[in-house]
Parts: sequence; C-alpha cells; structure tokens
Amino acid sequence: MPISGLPPYETNNIFARILRGEIPSKKVYEDEWAFAFHDINPQAPTHILVIPKGAYCSFADFSTEASDAEIAGFMRAVGQIARDLGLETPGYRLLANMGAHSGQEVPHFHVHLFAGKPLGRMIAE
Ligand code: AMP
Repeated sequence: MPISGLPPYETNNIFARILRGEIPSKKVYEDEWAFAFHDINPQAPTHILVIPKGAYCSFADFSTEASDAEIAGFMRAVGQIARDLGLETPGYRLLANMGAHSGQEVPHFHVHLFAGKPLGRMIAE
C-alpha cells in the first residue's frame, strides 16, 4: 500500500515477479518476512538484495505502512543474512534507495547489502 502522494504499488514490478517465482533469481535466503537474492549487476564482490514479502514501493512506504512484526522480521532477516554469509568481519554496507534523487529503479522496497572489499566513500561525488 503506498503512502499518500506516492504512486500505487505496481504488482508486476520485477521484484514482485521474482517473489511469485515468475522470474528466476539466485536465492540466498527466505523466511516469513524476507527474500534475498544476488543482484544481477553486482557493484561489489558480494551484492545481495533483501526484499520484504509484502507489497511496499519504497522505504517510505514500508516504514509507515508495514506492521511492527513485518519491520522487525525484515530487519532481523537482513542481519541474519549478513551473519550467515560471514560478513560481520571485516564488515559490510547496507543501502536503500528511495525515490528519484536516490536513483531507485525498482519500485519494491529493497536493501542492498554490499561486502567483499573496502567499499570507499558513502556517496559518489
Ligand atoms: P535500485 O536502483 O536501488 O532500485 O536497485 C535495483 C537493483 O536491482 C539494481 O542493482 C539492479 O542491478 C537489480 N536488478 C534488476 N533486475 C534484477 C533481477 N532480475 N535480478 C536481480 N537483480 C536485479
């Protein structure tokens, strides 16, 4: 469900289709709240996308409309994936794009998980 003033959730966006199994993905994790898979165009040696199972367009949508259980379940899944992959040492980066200025391309909320080398500056010049 979109927040007021933002477009409605597009049920045929590419991540919705991955969740429905209509498009293949390289799955790394799944539970009641979250699904995670390798990014098709990795920007680091490890580049995982973690998405909630619910239909949320963006972080703005998820953070206002999702239940406490969905938010907690999703955030715990992100941490669990990083632990399972042994990324806590030497570390990793999480990133979530929201809206035009961020360059968000896929309108289903997702967190990027980057790791595998020193990741440089937080924001491109
Ligand atoms: P964002 O710009 O934050 O919306 O990121 C969208 C990400 O989805 C990009 O890093 C793309 O490489 C990735 N992506 C797009 N299509 C697929 C796909 N079919 N499987 C895996 N990753 C994808």
